[in-house]
Amino acid sequence: APEKPVDYSSHKLIKIFPKNVKQLVDLRRFGSDFKMDYWNAPMPDMRPVLTLVPGEKIGAEFLVALNKSRIGFEVTADNFQKMLNAERDENSRNLRRFRSFFDYQSTYHSYDEIIAELQRVSTNNSKVVYNSMGKSYEGRQIPFLTITNTDVKEPKKTIVFECGIHAREWVRVSTATCLWMANTLITDSINEELLKKFEFIVIPSLNPDGYVYSHTVNRMWRKTRSPQRGGQRGADPNRNFDSHFGQAGTQLDPSGEAYPGVKPFSEVETKALANLVLSKRGQIAAYFAIHSFSQLWMYPYGYTSVPPPNYAQLERLSTRAVDAIRATSGLVFNKGTIARTIYKASGSSIDWAYDSAGCKVVFALELRDKGQYGFILPPSQIRSAATETWAGIKAVLGEL
Ligand SMILES: [Zn+2]
Repeated sequence: APEKPVDYSSHKLIKIFPKNVKQLVDLRRFGSDFKMDYWNAPMPDMRPVLTLVPGEKIGAEFLVALNKSRIGFEVTADNFQKMLNAERDENSRNLRRFRSFFDYQSTYHSYDEIIAELQRVSTNNSKVVYNSMGKSYEGRQIPFLTITNTDVKEPKKTIVFECGIHAREWVRVSTATCLWMANTLITDSINEELLKKFEFIVIPSLNPDGYVYSHTVNRMWRKTRSPQRGGQRGADPNRNFDSHFGQAGTQLDPSGEAYPGVKPFSEVETKALANLVLSKRGQIAAYFAIHSFSQLWMYPYGYTSVPPPNYAQLERLSTRAVDAIRATSGLVFNKGTIARTIYKASGSSIDWAYDSAGCKVVFALELRDKGQYGFILPPSQIRSAATETWAGIKAVLGEL
């Protein structure tokens, strides 16, 4: 029998407002003490932190702890399921409205719709090749597009867009933004020069099992779907790369959202990506790992707060990118190394790409917003989110 969808009616979505360093420290500790799955990291700029609070005892105890530390919070949604239903309804309306074509601007699509569209755009178009880098744990193809001007025969540098490693960020703009950028590369003649200079590898959904599961069973699913000890499912693919595996920022308990798996590349999805990237070794001019949310433009390292050797270059490129974003939409993105900007995280794709695959220009982006909607960004914002991201990326490409 198909698994019953998880119901979030008894979950509240709350927004927490840390005001000083002590509250920030308390908030981080409560996160692990009460096993709260914060949607965004408590950061020194004191931005609000979103989290779901379960209806059970542990949720009530968490709220008591916040009160004891005098940390303010407000309830964004008393019944989180209603918020999910509203998101789903808006998306279904758009799906019906744009039934005759694949809407890139304002609709989140299912895995099957995405595969069909990728195959369609690659048919009879010499600029686009559809491919699979391998199969997911549950046997789904892990798709990618290669987009370039094949009339230019000189060897080109490669640009990689890695999206959808975390399932619940589907939009959450990661997958939707990747698709939008692929579409603009293919259809907008303004990008012709880019296609003469570069080969783009666009990976819209690196974690298809998680993507499907987050659509059909548990909207908040983040990890892969492979079996783990204790009857648990999935590893965090962005902790599963062979780079300081299992160190800072991982959880040993397989029920944890940052559980790295039993060993590096235990997940077939990360292994497939690594093989693809290694096949382009020495050729990759820039690598973008696209996540949501928090409005951050980050670079290595995640595993340590020691800056990488070409720190100055990455900082300069990041400045170009965040300036371009601000000029496009007015939104402010913070920049810096992962470890210094959010938290230490080992085994991430960009640390691995940087240290083991020879890519020296690598970024991890957290797209909009800063916590108004968080993971439940309305589909009507896809276009704006993708437009500003593309502006930031083009600013970097212009410097390469
Ligand atoms: Zn992510």
